[in-house]
Amino acid sequence: MMLSKKDLIENFPILNRSIEDKKIIYFDNAATTLTPINVTNAIKDFYDYHNANVHRGAHLLSNEATEMYENARKSIAKFINAKTQEVIFTRGTTESINLFVYSIGKSDWIKGKDVLITTIEHHSNFVPWQQLAKTFDFNVIYYNPENGIFNLDEFISNITEDTKLISITGMSNVTGQVIPIREIINYAHEKDILVHVDGAQFVPHFGIDVKEIDVDFLSFSGHKMLGPMGIGVFYGKKKLLKKLPPFHYGGEMINWVSIENTDFAELPEKFQAGTPNVGGAVGLKAAIDYINEIGMENIKEHSKILTDYAMKRIKALDFITLYNPEDSSSIITFNVDNVHPHDVAQILSDKFGIAVRSGHLCAQPLLTQLGTKSVCRASFYFYNTEEEVDKLIEGLKFIKEWFK
Ligand code: PLP
Repeated sequence: MMLSKKDLIENFPILNRSIEDKKIIYFDNAATTLTPINVTNAIKDFYDYHNANVHRGAHLLSNEATEMYENARKSIAKFINAKTQEVIFTRGTTESINLFVYSIGKSDWIKGKDVLITTIEHHSNFVPWQQLAKTFDFNVIYYNPENGIFNLDEFISNITEDTKLISITGMSNVTGQVIPIREIINYAHEKDILVHVDGAQFVPHFGIDVKEIDVDFLSFSGHKMLGPMGIGVFYGKKKLLKKLPPFHYGGEMINWVSIENTDFAELPEKFQAGTPNVGGAVGLKAAIDYINEIGMENIKEHSKILTDYAMKRIKALDFITLYNPEDSSSIITFNVDNVHPHDVAQILSDKFGIAVRSGHLCAQPLLTQLGTKSVCRASFYFYNTEEEVDKLIEGLKFIKEWFK
């Protein structure tokens, strides 16, 4: 079910805002999506009527909060087809990946062995591997595709006898390229290599069935799929998570503590030290309810039609450098010849009410490969329209004239 303009404005109040006299056009979805009112209402309801710490209390509010929190976990588990114990709440993809690198780094699974990543990663799936390789004694192999475009055969040719783990994005936050994770996982499993997917961009646009695709570990963020900021998910296969050591230590993640030792809690608590973001989890559940109502198939179809349309229109402009490959989704990354991307973003905002991102997009190794330090990115979600893309094209033509 896709929504009418009226429903969209009712559900996403930000869409009713204007910049000067221009209605906001929100094309910064790869950074953060808009929040529907069912999400803000769910969070408000939690704080207004049920706020208490979870798991520890015998009183009514604590029981209600615990039930809401664990129901959220169940919904998310169902959404990705995981077991509830396999869903670890984190602050977002960045924390999920740090959790993973610290945890697997402390184990001996990858000690002295190779971890294969790529240079098209967001810094979140790059810097932790690069920085912690020394601390934990593993090697990082970087697949550095020419022109920043991922190629499966080239990628696979980087796998060696020593490769024990692959950590790769499902979809580039710069080029929108969709990575063939199914093929990577199949190939890796034949060689006994584990695969972690950074699903920050992939999951909101395609959903995922972790059992069907057989991914070993997955990270994603709530705020890129209609949920609030500060909540995300780390998924791992139960049999693997059980063997990994905890990341954070403290309350909630223990079974028994003595002066000599600590016995850790079962999954998922083992990986969730301290008071969790219950309101965030409740909000993420509401976001998933909303996505389910719209329907993932509808989201995918809308993305495809809108991206194709935007690519066609932007390719017709002879003053634009475009960084997308053909198979990109929901993201258009470009530069206006001879104009700094920050100027482009500022003028689009001030004169046309259009929000695009500009800068290095937290992917400097990839931008280096693309031969630039900074770009503009327009990124779409299901509430964006072809008319809005037309406005972007009008804005870009205006900018070209302005700087003539
Ligand atoms: N990975 C990718 C592909 C992303 O696009 C992003 C954010 O833009 C992240 C990781 C980091 O997500 P977060 O900032 O929610 O932790």
